[in-house]
Amino acid sequence: MNLKPSIQVSLPQRLYDGYRAFRTGRLPTEQSRYRELAERGQAPETMVVGCCDSRVSPEVIFDAGPGELFVVRNVANLVPPYSPDGLYHGVSAALEYGVTVLRVKHLVVLGHARCGGIQAFASNAPSGDFIGKWISLLAPAAASVQGREDGDYLRRLEQASLMRSLDNLTTFPFVRSAIESNVLTLFGAYFDVATGELSVLERESGQFVAVARD
Ligand SMILES: [Zn+2]
Repeated sequence: MNLKPSIQVSLPQRLYDGYRAFRTGRLPTEQSRYRELAERGQAPETMVVGCCDSRVSPEVIFDAGPGELFVVRNVANLVPPYSPDGLYHGVSAALEYGVTVLRVKHLVVLGHARCGGIQAFASNAPSGDFIGKWISLLAPAAASVQGREDGDYLRRLEQASLMRSLDNLTTFPFVRSAIESNVLTLFGAYFDVATGELSVLERESGQFVAVARD
């Protein structure tokens, strides 16, 4: 049996077409910006922790151009607690780079409705080699959310998890020290996939409030 992975030298047609459109459309209009970014390096002011979900692209939702957002995406937009244990921590590495090297000013955790990762946790779906362990990060948030049978349970779990991720961010010494020095602000935002509505967490009230509705 030939177990060599099949590596195509061409791209899937949709990606090829998309790149052609980029090359003839967006690239010429933003060529000088790309050159400048290449020479100066990136200096994004905002970092986003988002979900892998294909419907929730931070660059699309915030209408951002190249160099504007430093983004790390993972299943269910989770931030693990600070845990320097010598293992592999992709999200923590991105946070360290964004906060200590790029010195982003704003850090947004972007949650969303109908999150498959949250659903999988809530329904005890088969966990595979990695997903189950990863979404077990949801357990502390889930313990704080009552009414599993209620229609809005998943939304409340999604939002509780987002708040937990914001709390976990403050367990990173470099995040805490940047907040205390007033050079970094944390935000929680929640995107409703069906309506396109974005809500932002008001820390005092703990409520998510819709923004830019006019
Ligand atoms: Zn998701």
